[in-house]
Amino acid sequence: MHRTLFDADHEAFRELMRDFVDRTLRPRADAHAREHRIDRECWLEAGRQGILGLEVGEEYGGSAVGDYRFNAVFHEELAVFGAAYASSFGIHADVVAPYLVELGTEEQKKEWLPRFCRGEIITAIAMTEPSGGSDLANLRTSAVADGGDWILNGAKTFITNGGSADLVVVAARTGPGARARGVSLFLVDAGLPGFQRGRVLDKVGQPESDTAELFFDDLRVPGDGLLGDVGTGFVAMMERLPQERIGVSIGNIANAASIFAETLEYIKQRTAFGQSVGSFQHNKFKAAEMYTRLEVTQAFVDACVRAHARGELTAEEAAMAKWWTAQVQNDVLDECLQLHGGYGYMNEYRVARAWKDARVNKIWAGSNEIMKELIGRKLGL
Ligand SMILES: Cc1cc2nc3c(=O)[nH]c(=O)nc-3n(C[C@H](O)[C@H](O)[C@H](O)COP(=O)(O)OP(=O)(O)OC[C@H]3O[C@@H](n4cnc5c(N)ncnc54)[C@H](O)[C@@H]3O)c2cc1C
Repeated sequence: MHRTLFDADHEAFRELMRDFVDRTLRPRADAHAREHRIDRECWLEAGRQGILGLEVGEEYGGSAVGDYRFNAVFHEELAVFGAAYASSFGIHADVVAPYLVELGTEEQKKEWLPRFCRGEIITAIAMTEPSGGSDLANLRTSAVADGGDWILNGAKTFITNGGSADLVVVAARTGPGARARGVSLFLVDAGLPGFQRGRVLDKVGQPESDTAELFFDDLRVPGDGLLGDVGTGFVAMMERLPQERIGVSIGNIANAASIFAETLEYIKQRTAFGQSVGSFQHNKFKAAEMYTRLEVTQAFVDACVRAHARGELTAEEAAMAKWWTAQVQNDVLDECLQLHGGYGYMNEYRVARAWKDARVNKIWAGSNEIMKELIGRKLGL
């Protein structure tokens, strides 16, 4: 279906994003995958192109476009190129930014946001711990007041950008035994003594990103590192997770649609038993099913983007989009891989890499099960 979500300004931004991908990311992608890290020059170029400051006010070096459809274009173009890029840049520009912009003090914003927008610092957000990620209210990393400072102890794992982040939004327990009401957020400078990085984790897919463990060992955070008020961290995360989830959803469906388009071309060309692979009724029906699922899903995601741009997207709608797009993407990529036969299992084929990259979408930013739990609760169950 013809999409009516975007206008000429969004399409101009899409051209800029494509140019960034082609000139800056594509030539370096093999090195990123080998080294499990997106090099700093890419971040700096993203900053020069104005890609990182969509959520940030002009007074801090951003563009504050105030229209989430630009963020949608950002997610689509990065996710079509490679899921790890959508994730790494997305965590910084679309996930961490609202925490800094909406919760930060004037001093915090002045200190961090200009470098954030220029790509001179890389950011991460650390919620998940080795003991669990789904039950966020039960997190164990502790933050204890000491004079005007806070002393952090604990560990975080699976942190996107964790290997290189200069600034990390850390969720820690300031209220022992208080579950959700005992969680606060901190802006942690990775240069502080007591901040340690574990290994960059060896993932099934998305080799370009430096997902890592973080450890805090008597890490002294100055009092001005508290982000928001004491005890409000859990609510702050719940309020901002819908944006993270709709961002993931936009990327999921764009990525799947692009691999589907390539697969369609492949099965038109590839022959078996003297006819194109796509002309067998079984495969034609598979293609028809995938196309239908992608189109129907895109319509829902576009409606969610519109709702979010108006400030009306609910947590349940974001949860629906998140689990559904992850499921559709994984199903579609698995079928696309199958239609490529043996070539589909070769890493030199994009479909193989996308298939591995996509699996995590059913797990991160709240697993499919947690998304259904949220929706079920809304249904009064
Ligand atoms: C590559 C990658 C990058 C990530 N990036 C980040 C990041 O940047 N920052 C960050 O904080 N976290 C990040 N995560 C963590 C991610 O959000 C968690 O892995 C996720 O929330 C699940 O938590 P868990 O792994 O501890 O699984 P668990 O919470 O241990 O869950 C295990 C299984 O039990 C299921 N389960 C749990 N509770 C319920 C329930 N009530 N009902 C039914 N089933 C349930 C889960 O769905 C899952 O299938 C990342 C993870 C990965 C893999």
